[in-house]
Amino acid sequence: MRRRQAGLAQASGMPRRSAAARLAMLVLTGWMPRIGAAHASASTTATAREGSTGAASTDALPKVSMDVRLDPATRLLQGEATWSVPAGMPLELSLDQRFTLETVSVDGRRWALSSAPAAPPADARQRIAVPAAPRVRNVQLRWRGELAPLDRSIDHRGVIASLPPMAAVRGSYLPAGSAWYPEAAGPMHYRLRVSVSAGQRAVAPGRLIAESVDADGASAVFESMLPAEGLTLMAGPYRVDERMLALPGNRTVRLRTWFVESVHPLAQDYLAAAAVPIERHDREIGPYPFDGFSVISSPLPTGFGLPGATYIGEAVLGLPFMRGQSLAHEVLHNWWGNGVRPDWRSGNWSEGLTTLMADHALRAAQSPEAARLMRWGWLRDFAAIAPGRDAPLERFTARTHGAASAVGYGRSAMLFHMVQGELGEAAFSDALRDLWRSHAGRTAGWNDLQAAFERRAGRSLSALFGPMVSGTGAPSLMPLSVRPEPDGATVRVTFAEPLPYTFRLPVLAWTGERAEPGTLELRRGERSTTWPPPGGWMPDALQFDPGFASWRRLAPGESPPLLRDAMLAPDVRVLVASDGDDRWRSAATELAARMLEAARPASARVADLDAPVPLLVIGRHEDIARLARRDPRLARPTSLPRQVDAALWAVRSAGGAPRVLASVEDTAALIDLHRRAPHYGAQGHVGFRNGRAIVSGVGGIESPRVPLAS
Ligand SMILES: [Zn+2]
Repeated sequence: MRRRQAGLAQASGMPRRSAAARLAMLVLTGWMPRIGAAHASASTTATAREGSTGAASTDALPKVSMDVRLDPATRLLQGEATWSVPAGMPLELSLDQRFTLETVSVDGRRWALSSAPAAPPADARQRIAVPAAPRVRNVQLRWRGELAPLDRSIDHRGVIASLPPMAAVRGSYLPAGSAWYPEAAGPMHYRLRVSVSAGQRAVAPGRLIAESVDADGASAVFESMLPAEGLTLMAGPYRVDERMLALPGNRTVRLRTWFVESVHPLAQDYLAAAAVPIERHDREIGPYPFDGFSVISSPLPTGFGLPGATYIGEAVLGLPFMRGQSLAHEVLHNWWGNGVRPDWRSGNWSEGLTTLMADHALRAAQSPEAARLMRWGWLRDFAAIAPGRDAPLERFTARTHGAASAVGYGRSAMLFHMVQGELGEAAFSDALRDLWRSHAGRTAGWNDLQAAFERRAGRSLSALFGPMVSGTGAPSLMPLSVRPEPDGATVRVTFAEPLPYTFRLPVLAWTGERAEPGTLELRRGERSTTWPPPGGWMPDALQFDPGFASWRRLAPGESPPLLRDAMLAPDVRVLVASDGDDRWRSAATELAARMLEAARPASARVADLDAPVPLLVIGRHEDIARLARRDPRLARPTSLPRQVDAALWAVRSAGGAPRVLASVEDTAALIDLHRRAPHYGAQGHVGFRNGRAIVSGVGGIESPRVPLAS
């Protein structure tokens, strides 16, 4: 994920010197010679880069130069800002109601604020509107106020949605969009000088121009390098580690970690891990667009990208997933998202492209099967959405709920995967390099991406992009019939409904146990297609898209049961299949309460195993095995080893009702499941030994073979 925003240039007139600026003055005299020299060379590189990429450097955008002071202990923020507004452009600023706007002046003259409206706006913000003028205008503002206390009860979704600016000694987070400074709506350039009290460090996206740390506190200056849509400021009792990464052409990238003490031992691992995707994408897409990359620890349970930075929860920094897949994803957003920004009016394409090129590429490097399972997961997540509840991709902006995520990440990533299949990997990469050259530092919409791919494909892709970007739903690509044509040399495949897009669908042609790959040419609006089987002989059966390489509805055999099927069922019942003492019974009740979404699940009897109701079945190994002898559908999957303390697996009844079996060695193993079991909903089975998951996964996913009709 990412927050909107990024950075460039040259802020005009600095704010008037305040008491807070005293420290910053020391910084500039003390540090500028050294950093200034380093910066000069970086700046030359950036200019050359912009020239070569044709990036927007002449666009007239407003620029803000700010000087802020933050004291996390008292939560007091005070700031001064000067907005420099291009001729002919109006400026509309908003500032959170928690701040007192002390002065506003335009071109040195005091600006009278219009009196507050009788009914304050719903988002409770102060508005400052300055009309356009025929010349450049300077708007100066001074404000101060108390930030909200840090709310650690916020969950991940809360962090993504709009939060107020918050402060605490253990960590402060002032998100872009929260109007912690007089904020404009569109893209801008900025220069920020920030000072924090002793023991604290503050960090914002952008090029580090100067910094100083002493007994009184720390101060730093950050400047945007590309147009930014808002500015995020973070602070905390950080220890800062740094490594300079050398890139071809004498360029360097300042890699930094800003970690609190408890996660500081991870710093060197993160510095090493961040270098890998930066080097790779710099080589494969185009020059890394920022002069640094920072990994910043957060007291909030979060993980998202900023321009040249990522902000990750202390609690999850230690997870291998964060340092691997998640970090690679956030690094790639510096090209797709922060380097080329989505045109929000036509939807956010950056999550899908980043998911394909980071997350999916990492899986593909593990094994083709791991990548296939990830694509299957995109289709499976979409299948979990009730029909008609999905919105088109062109309306996706950010992940706010499951349905948005299945479309904005899954559908989008699959579209790019399909385009890659149409063009081949080389032309696909060339198209993305073209897009980078033409749009780095600018916005791009879906139509710009389509055009970049069409140029390299040498043909229109509108019958694929159109329905995938503007449409909803997914077609079933399971055919109504597959039969040989009278000529005996081709197969005719007929679908139930007209096909929604033009696309090459992968198939496997089976003759006995031998399989030959091929592709079907599907055309938008048509219901059938013919196909000459490879080698000219008629296969016995066809498998359609067995690798999950197209956006479609899963066939029944392609959805193996998952633990969450029963866990989320509102009418689930609980069958305790073993007798036991009070401790056993209350442990079983507690497991049901923790695993199931239903508030008060009814209890079930053994006879209910024959009823079409969702069930959670809890028992000791020997009792579960006895039930499985009665109904083989309940049997433990062969992928689970015999020797486990506890195991969970999902099955379906003859009528398709979901069942979860919780099979344990004894009461202690049952109690141990309380904490662990709720995390495995996306799996089909999991086995635990000595309190650790030793195996988990979903069952084999096989696409049905459709026999040829005679
Ligand atoms: Zn993302």
